[in-house]
Amino acid sequence: MPENDPIVVMKFGGTSVSGPEELKRAARRIVTAREAGNRVVAVLSARGKTTDELVAAAYEISDRPNSREMDMLLSTGERVSCALCSMAIIDMGHEAVSLTGSQAGIVTDSSHTRARIIDVRADRIREALGNERIVLVAGFQGVSTDSRDVTTLGRGGSDTTAVALAAALGASVCEIYTDVTGVFSADPRIVPGARKLPVVSYEEMLEMSASGAKVLQLRAVEYARNNGVPIHCRSSFEDLPGTLVLPESETMERPLVTAVTHSSDEARVTVVGVKDEPGVAGRIFKALADANVNVDVIIQNEPIGDDALADLSFTVDREDLHTAVDVIAELGDISHSVRTDERIGKVSIVGAGMRSHPGVAAKVFEVMGAELINIEMISTSPIKISCVIDAGKVPDAVRALHAAFELGEDAIVPEDPTGEHRPTVPS
Ligand code: ASP
Ligand code: MG
Repeated sequence: MPENDPIVVMKFGGTSVSGPEELKRAARRIVTAREAGNRVVAVLSARGKTTDELVAAAYEISDRPNSREMDMLLSTGERVSCALCSMAIIDMGHEAVSLTGSQAGIVTDSSHTRARIIDVRADRIREALGNERIVLVAGFQGVSTDSRDVTTLGRGGSDTTAVALAAALGASVCEIYTDVTGVFSADPRIVPGARKLPVVSYEEMLEMSASGAKVLQLRAVEYARNNGVPIHCRSSFEDLPGTLVLPESETMERPLVTAVTHSSDEARVTVVGVKDEPGVAGRIFKALADANVNVDVIIQNEPIGDDALADLSFTVDREDLHTAVDVIAELGDISHSVRTDERIGKVSIVGAGMRSHPGVAAKVFEVMGAELINIEMISTSPIKISCVIDAGKVPDAVRALHAAFELGEDAIVPEDPTGEHRPTVPS
């Protein structure tokens, strides 16, 4: 195949390869891209709920499954998808080859179940592409050259595999095929009038993924931004343009707020009666980091009086709550007691436009007030405002914010000004 044919990386998520029909549909899409003159690398996820089932199987055997063996187990799901899809493509009259992450040259560090990609040695892929083959790569996995063991990249990690390959191969685009039609101004299951966003900047997408949008793995967006890989997030079930994720310079001046995101699966830990002296917060959060607990919003009140004590609260993923509590207990005399709250949710608004506009936070708080929703914690970045609230109030808060900032269908649609990346609508 001519060496200058464009390379496209196409990633298919679990629902897009769940059964034989879906797999064949993905195979046809891949073949269509190939017949249009592209060199194609497809990255597949495990089928349907396979990864969840494998995790459950591990916990049926052990309370604390060995993490090396966990990776051996979890990495099988993606291999199954790739081998089957390759068979389908071969039956359609094309040459195809499936590769494990390790065979594809995805080199990671050796932290099992949450490994980071440190190198992509894509020679074998290039060679196969040169031999007219479509290459299928098992997502979500790699190999540590230190330990020579198979690793996995954390849940949702196939997105990162795809972006990393797109970067290494100099692909023109990394297409993420999924069961939704793009990135929306809010979760359409909560806000039926939510709008599909034609273009989102890397910075906005990072904030959205970090604050609960499930459509793209946070690490994949980070990798795309660092390497300038354009992402096109689109439906595998209909042939319409989805959402482009691009550098901010390639998106036009943004509306104030782009999207409302939420998460309902957080928990709060309050360390009551912490000594108000240097080094204490460092000890607490270092211990949490060492236990791989990701901390989100943090607040500490200012103790009143001379040897008064502070209360330090922070939020974590609900599944990390018990680890967090154990970690603090192991620190011994650091505080009086620890309180937890498992019913914590968070709503956030994200928009590159708010960077230069005051008053957005005030409006968010007013909207919550009008809905009689109590804001328990607040955190901000230049392009995001998050409120921690009662988990049960999350849907109301999302709907109210979406309406107040007029993010629905009739908002002004920002265009991709260069037109370069604009997907063409098939006739
Ligand atoms: N199969 C893995 C998961 O469910 C990776 C992925 O789908 O991206 O997390
Ligand atoms: Mg996914």
